[in-house]
This record gives sequence, structure tokens and C-alpha cells, in this order.
Amino acid sequence: MFLIALALNGTAIAADLSKVVIIKADDFTGTNQAWSNFLEASRAAGVKVSIGVITRSMRVNSPVQDWMRAQENKGDVEFWNHGWDHKRWSTNDFSISEFQGSGLANQREHLNRSQAALKKLLGHDVITLGTPYNGFDSETAQAMNESPALRLFFTYTTNPKTEVARQRVDTRIALLDIVNEAEGTGKPNAARLAALLANRPPGPVSLQFHPPYFDAPHLDEYRKILADLKVHGYTTILPSQYVAALAAKAERLLTTPNQSRTNNRSSAERFKLSDHP
Ligand SMILES: [Zn+2]
Repeated sequence: MFLIALALNGTAIAADLSKVVIIKADDFTGTNQAWSNFLEASRAAGVKVSIGVITRSMRVNSPVQDWMRAQENKGDVEFWNHGWDHKRWSTNDFSISEFQGSGLANQREHLNRSQAALKKLLGHDVITLGTPYNGFDSETAQAMNESPALRLFFTYTTNPKTEVARQRVDTRIALLDIVNEAEGTGKPNAARLAALLANRPPGPVSLQFHPPYFDAPHLDEYRKILADLKVHGYTTILPSQYVAALAAKAERLLTTPNQSRTNNRSSAERFKLSDHP
């Protein structure tokens, strides 16, 4: 029932993805007051959120598992894969992270492990990946391509350093651009975000937050941001709704061959009907 409902919602919003936002909330390792505050603020604004889980610290048959399933059952929260251990280190002055520069074998193992852990926790496959520090290289692309459940990847879609890697990502996996917190991790700024969004070309985007690090003033900034989004006509949706909307849009493109196809690789045109039985 869950998936059917999401697909229908996806079709309903497919008409216009130009003002669609996914709230990308990073670094979930367990329940605490900060996450409760974040969810309370989101729900008070009628906003759906997606939450990135660092999976190593998660245990099945635990209160946190019950809590996660309860959140998803409310229909306004979706969890995504934020890696296994979120580690970063340096070798010979090169900065390496879990999904950047750590090698194919390591990335493949961490992706498989974290996907399997989330499936056990939630009872279904997780379709979205957002890597720690948004690390990304060609080996990440290969590991993702080998992970059949993945349909969405949060990444900076205009970063020239990852262009080659982006081109290697299978068309089954949509790429969604990220706008991060204006003043650093856990420090959103409503005025700066509003200016930034006003200057972006229209199109779907993910807004990245780190709720575990919000202090009271930054939680207020988050509330302001949600209010601003509403005022400016943005719709917040879940990753699975976005993926369903892209699939519906791809279907329409295929059935109306004369429609101009000006979208870039991060949007609906990358999707093929055959990928979405
Ligand atoms: Zn993180």
C-alpha cells in the first residue's frame, strides 16, 4: 500500500518539478531531542523530510528501529543511505573519505553493507544515497550502478571535479543537486538561502541540513526557511515521490515525441521506461 500511494502522489506532482524541494537531513545515528525538534518544526510546517542514516550505529530489534518505522508509517519521512561509518582521513596530504578516493572494493563493501542494514531496519530497500561529505568519484558511480535498488543520488550536479564520475552513473539513478547550509554544518541561514534560490534556474533541488547540530537560533532559521519555501510556492516531497514523478515524466516524454527535450542528464530524460517496470 505504501508504494502504491507514493506512486500516485508522484504522478500527481509530476506536472511541475520546477519548484520541487527535497529536504536532505544528514547524520542520523539515533534518536535525540535535536531530531525531535527538527521533526516537530517540519511537521508544524506541513513539510516532508528525508533523513540520511549513518548505518554502522544502527541495531535491529531496537527502540531506534521501532522509531524509524513509526516515522515512515506517518508518510512524511523517508530514510536514505548516508554511508556505513562516515569516516574521513588523509594519506600523503590527500583527503580521503568513505566514498571518495577509498577504492572500489571499500566503496562497494560499504555500500552493500549499509544498504543491507537499512533494508533489515526498515523492511524495504532504500532507494537513495547521499555520501558523507558528498564525496564522489568514478568508483562510487560503479558501486552505485551495481546496487540495483538505488534510484536517486544527492550530489553537486555542476561540480566540474565530479563531472566524469557523474557521466558514469547509470540512467536508472537520478542525480539531484544540493544546496548546503549557508554558514557551515548545522548553520542554515534563511536570508542567504532565499537569495540563493532566487538566483538559481528553476528546477528540483535538495536542501541539505544537519539537524543534530542545530542550536536554538539555527532551528529558528530552519523554521523560517520552511515558511519561505511555502510563500514562494515550493513543494517539499520525499525521494520516492520524486523518483515516481520522474518516471511519470519520462513516460510522457516517450509518448509525445515532438516535445522538446531540453532537460539535462539530472532530470527526467535520463530515465528510461524499461528501468521502471
Ligand atoms: Zn554526514
